[in-house]
Amino acid sequence: MPQYISIMIDASTVSKSDQFINLEDQFGAHNYHPLPVVLERGEGVFVFDVNGKRYYDFLSAYSAINQGHCHPHIVGALVEQAKKLTLTSRAFHNNRLGEYEQFATAFFGYDKLLPMNTGAEAVETAIKIARKWAYEVKGIAGNNAQIVVCENNFHGRTTTIISFSNDPVARKNFGPYTGGFIKIPYDNSEALEETLKNNPHVAAFLVEPIQGEAGVYVPSSDYLKKCKAICDKYNVLLLADEVQTGIARTGRLLASCGNCSCADKNCSQTPEVKADILILGKALSGGVYPVSAVLANDDIMSVIGPGNHGSTFGGNPIAAAVAIAALEVVKEEKLAEKAHKLGELFRAKMNEYISNSLIVKQVRGKGLLNAIVINDHEESDTAWNICLSLRDHGLLAKPTHGNIIRFAPPLVMTETQLLECVGIITETLSEFEPL
Ligand SMILES: *Cc1c(COP(=O)(O)O)cnc(C)c1O
Repeated sequence: MPQYISIMIDASTVSKSDQFINLEDQFGAHNYHPLPVVLERGEGVFVFDVNGKRYYDFLSAYSAINQGHCHPHIVGALVEQAKKLTLTSRAFHNNRLGEYEQFATAFFGYDKLLPMNTGAEAVETAIKIARKWAYEVKGIAGNNAQIVVCENNFHGRTTTIISFSNDPVARKNFGPYTGGFIKIPYDNSEALEETLKNNPHVAAFLVEPIQGEAGVYVPSSDYLKKCKAICDKYNVLLLADEVQTGIARTGRLLASCGNCSCADKNCSQTPEVKADILILGKALSGGVYPVSAVLANDDIMSVIGPGNHGSTFGGNPIAAAVAIAALEVVKEEKLAEKAHKLGELFRAKMNEYISNSLIVKQVRGKGLLNAIVINDHEESDTAWNICLSLRDHGLLAKPTHGNIIRFAPPLVMTETQLLECVGIITETLSEFEPL
């Protein structure tokens, strides 16, 4: 009898959830430390575990599920396309890719799109384009181009990307590291100017408009605008990694909110920055399929020719159909406006709670990308225990960096649901307040 069956029927002593957790533990690499909950179904703002218990999802797969779980319009597009044609590779054309490229470039306001699958691949793609642009357009001498990045960045997990991370867990024992990166403090445009002034070999500045993984660090409101002006002054490309912040999450179509078809009326009050290279992933598919993309105008994207870059699955017809549907949902359901409105409400309610709290120090964020900071040191397990208790109360969230809990529900949430969630969160937190 195959071993997995023997484990599955060992129900007398082990709970149903534990059986699935044990399988992952025994046969999967231990590269994650998941919250102990086993999910089998999702619908809108909810997920359901193997025992049928319902939870509000306050992670949204790290903001991939902005459109809600299993959105019928997106899943419908997936199923329809999957029955017709799934993959051609880019050795041949397919009848969906061009349509998607036209749709997405108009949606975000760029000339061209380069399709990939994961966020890390899109970041790698942007780095390659920026380097090639530096040699062929800017005129930097061969193999000398530098890319400026920020401390505490998160851009993915490839060998090159972890080379410029400063998270010891992500880096340690994965060297030798890829060179060509200069690290400066985040939210510090003076440091950027200083670096560019003294270094003629800089090709690009790679930045997250809000540092999500680092703990939802929102920079000062004019930071990106200043960075863009400095980049322009020194002929350096601004690369915006909007894999997590993009596609309505922060209350605007893009957190950097350049010349986009943003639905949020408040947008004009905020600094408008158009990145030279825009990096998207996660919610580009609504979490239905791995779809990522790099967008740029012709003067930059034209450095890429046949054979310079590619991916077997990048630009496949399912990805194209899914991404169009996912973006249609963002627009039709006004998700940017919703995220903006619900985010204001969430932070107001949390601040009400925090004014009388000893356990929560701060709430911060933009739109529905928020985090609370627990009043405890980074190595404490308080945030983890709060997340376990939230789970028991029917809401799923995960600590990031020890004492920070990120709250990022799907954007299709109603105001009533959000208020119910605020109730769950504040009730749970109050259990942890010192007496
Ligand atoms: C998640 C994320 C990535 C990496 O995306 P993957 O699909 O996991 O490779 C890159 N940048 C940011 C800002 C992210 O949040």
